[in-house]
Amino acid sequence: MTDKRIFERFVGSLRNPTGAGNPITNRNFVSISACVFLLFGLANSLDGISNSFAQTVAVSGGSKTEPAFDEKEAFAHLENVCAFGRRFSTSRGMTQQQDYLRQHFASLGVEVFMQPFVARNPRDGRQAELANMIVRFHPHRSKRLLICCHYDTRPYPDLDRHNPHGVFIGANDGGSGVAVLCELGRQLAPVIEATESDEAAMAPREMRTVEVRTVGGASNWNSKTDDGKYGVDFAFFDGEEFVYVARRDPMFLGSTYFSKEYVRTGRTPEPKVSFNQRAQRGPVRAADSRYVFAILIDMVGDKNLQIFYEGNSLIYAPRLTKSIWDVAARMKAKAFVPKQKHKLRDDHLPLNQIARIPTCDIIDFDFPSPRRKHAYWHTEADIVKNCSAESLGTVGSVLLQWLTEMQQLAKNQPSP
Ligand SMILES: [Zn+2]
Repeated sequence: MTDKRIFERFVGSLRNPTGAGNPITNRNFVSISACVFLLFGLANSLDGISNSFAQTVAVSGGSKTEPAFDEKEAFAHLENVCAFGRRFSTSRGMTQQQDYLRQHFASLGVEVFMQPFVARNPRDGRQAELANMIVRFHPHRSKRLLICCHYDTRPYPDLDRHNPHGVFIGANDGGSGVAVLCELGRQLAPVIEATESDEAAMAPREMRTVEVRTVGGASNWNSKTDDGKYGVDFAFFDGEEFVYVARRDPMFLGSTYFSKEYVRTGRTPEPKVSFNQRAQRGPVRAADSRYVFAILIDMVGDKNLQIFYEGNSLIYAPRLTKSIWDVAARMKAKAFVPKQKHKLRDDHLPLNQIARIPTCDIIDFDFPSPRRKHAYWHTEADIVKNCSAESLGTVGSVLLQWLTEMQQLAKNQPSP
């Protein structure tokens, strides 16, 4: 689909919020209506009541509940960013990728800006200029959800047995998260805008507690500029693995900077320069904007997708983590396995430990499979050919459905 058509659809959904005559919005309307019923299932299962009701709804809802995430669009983004070659921090490929993402999100009519920072280049010890990229949907909303990934790739495939100084493309480790967010962004505007189906949905009690405690700025919920629904930010972290010598060079530079800034400013990031001014709808900014939850995605393109609970996510954000796997179960997304396997260090650690945002890492660390003696991870085999559109589609669809259900919960929050 061309950018122009995407933009026209987006504009159409804004002009026509009921969705009449708009295929994407109509589909989301059906999806959102159905999810009200699904929420009863989620609330019930969280309360320890039999989840058979949820299963019945999932079966009877059938394809009507399926989100509109397009796996082919996501895969095309994967091919496009990998065509830039190596995309490690400060590289030419990274600059090309940044231009590509800026253009993509600007074409969707949403706000895109950089969060620049400096770091020591581990290769030569000089100062290097890095930058996270932030995309904001509905900047006036103070209560926000963060979906993030890293967009830099490792400088070398240092675990490649044959060519550790060869070319590391990072299709799965770097590219897959970017690809999912590109397509998720295209789907978000109508979902986030939706105002239909305001029937009573039951919020899981645990989530309600977490929100009230985390958000702080609840006084804004009834103001004209902040309707109490969730705004969404995407963050593309730089410097996740600006690593030339493992065990020597620090990781998670971008997410650490992001987290420290969040603590220092006490709010979500603001643009110094926005690349598409027309996306800013008025001067209103929520002074106390805070993240309620964050979800990190990493290595989600594996053909043999199996995503287990990640150990640190269960420690820092157990309810969030389980709510995502619950959504996946109801969607019959079997790639999400509700068992713990790996415990990993990833960009979610600074978010949890420094920013104190409950953050879950969605990651399939067995690339391609735990049975393979030599993994593709950090080798020259991390290429597009070893990733699948279906896997990107699975993760994207679950995220889209989770966001849709969260929006329903927000709409039904009691007024403070
Ligand atoms: Zn990596």
